[in-house]
Amino acid sequence: MSKQSSPDGTQLVSARNGSTPAAPADSSADDRSAVPAVPFSGVSIDFSGDTGVAAPSAPAPFADLAIDFSGAPIAAAGGPAVATLPGSPGYVSAHDGRTESKLLIVGSGPAGLTAAIYAARANLEPIVLAGSTPGGQLMLTSDVENYPGFPDGIQGPELMALFRSQAERFGTQIVDVDIDRVDLSQRPFRIWARGVEYKGEAVVVATGASAMWLGLESETRLRGRGVSACATCDGFFFRDKEIAVVGGGDTAFEEASYLTRFASKVHMLHRRDEFRASRIMVERARENPKIEIHTNTAVEEVLGDEKVSGLRLSDTETGKERTMPADGLFVAIGHRPNTEAFRDWLEVDAKGYLVVRDETNSQIEGVFIAGDVHDHRYRQAITAAGDGCMAAIDAERWLESQGITEANTLTAW
Ligand SMILES: Cc1cc2nc3c(=O)[nH]c(=O)nc-3n(C[C@H](O)[C@H](O)[C@H](O)COP(=O)(O)OP(=O)(O)OC[C@H]3O[C@@H](n4cnc5c(N)ncnc54)[C@H](O)[C@@H]3O)c2cc1C
Repeated sequence: MSKQSSPDGTQLVSARNGSTPAAPADSSADDRSAVPAVPFSGVSIDFSGDTGVAAPSAPAPFADLAIDFSGAPIAAAGGPAVATLPGSPGYVSAHDGRTESKLLIVGSGPAGLTAAIYAARANLEPIVLAGSTPGGQLMLTSDVENYPGFPDGIQGPELMALFRSQAERFGTQIVDVDIDRVDLSQRPFRIWARGVEYKGEAVVVATGASAMWLGLESETRLRGRGVSACATCDGFFFRDKEIAVVGGGDTAFEEASYLTRFASKVHMLHRRDEFRASRIMVERARENPKIEIHTNTAVEEVLGDEKVSGLRLSDTETGKERTMPADGLFVAIGHRPNTEAFRDWLEVDAKGYLVVRDETNSQIEGVFIAGDVHDHRYRQAITAAGDGCMAAIDAERWLESQGITEANTLTAW
């Protein structure tokens, strides 16, 4: 669980939303103000600020946390600053060099890095093409309280640094680049990033999905300080608080209903007067005494300095503005699966997510899929990590069945 919003206001790490531009979103994108998307250009990795679709001026993501992705021991919060973040000036990947591997893994969130740990321990010497958000979505949050093994919780970026160093320990090569093109027509599969061609006998696609945001500067500034995109992750921190959910699709209603377990009041804000959500969801919400629905209502600004204290709202018909006190804002206007590079090759569903055939297989033999890039049901670090594990095992078994790896080299998992 990410301690997003700590209404009590403590620390926070905010970061970018590394989303790709053109893929369809999975829910009520109609709630989203028009915000130009920043493509994964593959030419710059900038940890100094948020370059996501709606985060033009995000604070530095790791302001309070020193993380050395180079594989060196992790400095504790408050410890000495580490200047080797990927993308920072002078950063050199610990394992620059190889461009061919038995297994290429695209994405370095929980799914990609777990796949890397398993594949590396199976001697596949994987190459991870980590993308412009090394570590994935958990880099967007502060405390994660629901990842097993950390009874006191752990910061999202710190958890991902541990994943990374565990993957590197067994020989994974991690390159912090976005891929821009793939050719899955024959083996070895080919993937290009920044003009470099990578070849792999098998591929794990673990490019995740990016939450969509409203595009307000105040929303970006207060992300992790009361602004969240994940009720399952952060609802717990809003016990007896008054909060708002923005969105009009099923996800928004699910999130609002879930949040009534904690919050004293949940305001649902929707810019239209009709909902995309199913009628039954809307009716249930209307019957829930903790939920109040506000139609024709847009969020103009999230109020608060250190943490969310309220919202400035406007009536989308009259333009009239008002303020509403609130301790938190959950943005539930959809996710965008990061499937751009694969769309010509792999099947996507109506919401733009990759389709898994069985287990972790795609429709192309040797190409496996893991994590939020296909899963819009669970969307949790642990489920993504589990998927990554399965994809690596499936990849190894497939490579063995093709005679690419020797028989009986299976790792003692
Ligand atoms: C604010 C917030 C708080 C959350 N809190 C929690 C929590 O407390 N507990 C929990 O369990 N879950 C939490 N989640 C959900 C969790 O982060 C995700 O379910 C999980 O990160 C999904 O993992 P993944 O590896 O599938 O994808 P992601 O984490 O999305 O990682 C995707 C990776 O793919 C890379 N990528 C994308 N496009 C490309 C490309 N073109 N080329 C190369 N690489 C690319 C990215 O750089 C990134 O490394 C939270 C999510 C958010 C947004």
